Amino acid sequence: MSVPASKKSSSAARRRRSHMHLDPVNTGLCEQCKKPVLSHRACGSCGFYKGRQVVDQSRDVKRTMKKATHTQDHDHDHEASEA
Ligand SMILES: [Zn+2]
Repeated sequence: MSVPASKKSSSAARRRRSHMHLDPVNTGLCEQCKKPVLSHRACGSCGFYKGRQVVDQSRDVKRTMKKATHTQDHDHDHEASEA
């Protein structure tokens, strides 16, 4: 394997790394709830896309409620010293 002939200057390294950055994500506003949404995707908070409901948000609420009640059943003690 070949080895670089000389050390890259700090300026050359910084020039190379000038392209290593993230671009800001383009968002629009939801027509229904006016929250920022990614284009071509249903709204994460109200589930609307192109003026109609495409994701049932009440289903998500039910699921989180079920999870919350399930964790409350967990009442036994665990061993504190496991090292
Ligand atoms: Zn929305």
